[in-house]
Amino acid sequence: MPIDATRPYDDSNIFARILRGEIPARKVYEDAHALAFHDINPQAATHILVIPKGAYVSWDDFSERASEEEIAGFVRAVGHVARAEGLVAPGYRLLANVGPDSGQEVPHLHVHIFGGGPLGPMISPR
Ligand code: AMP
Repeated sequence: MPIDATRPYDDSNIFARILRGEIPARKVYEDAHALAFHDINPQAATHILVIPKGAYVSWDDFSERASEEEIAGFVRAVGHVARAEGLVAPGYRLLANVGPDSGQEVPHLHVHIFGGGPLGPMISPR
């Protein structure tokens, strides 16, 4: 069920629960600003989610409210994970859904990293 990304942050969401250690995740990277883990329902050979540790609903919310340090830390974490997974030479795709038209389902900012093989068209044909 797509979420309304204009709503305030709700810390009962599943990624907040992963951050609190209440439910497990297949972690691949963690630092002061970000956590990366495998998507539970992968859409590519490699499908990793990177989330900020702060409470942000979406890319929109993050870009408006996060500190320069949080933004820098998160962007560097995404790049670090892609490099560590060996995705730079073959190539990869980043995706961040925001709100209903995108199909965003989890109301905690997450960047999808897709890779591990050709990824097809950027979006489904209309
Ligand atoms: P989005 O549609 O952009 O909000 O993407 C949410 C993503 O979270 C989907 O790709 C789900 O498969 C993934 N997901 C949902 N629950 C979990 C979970 N517990 N662990 C890992 N990935 C999850």
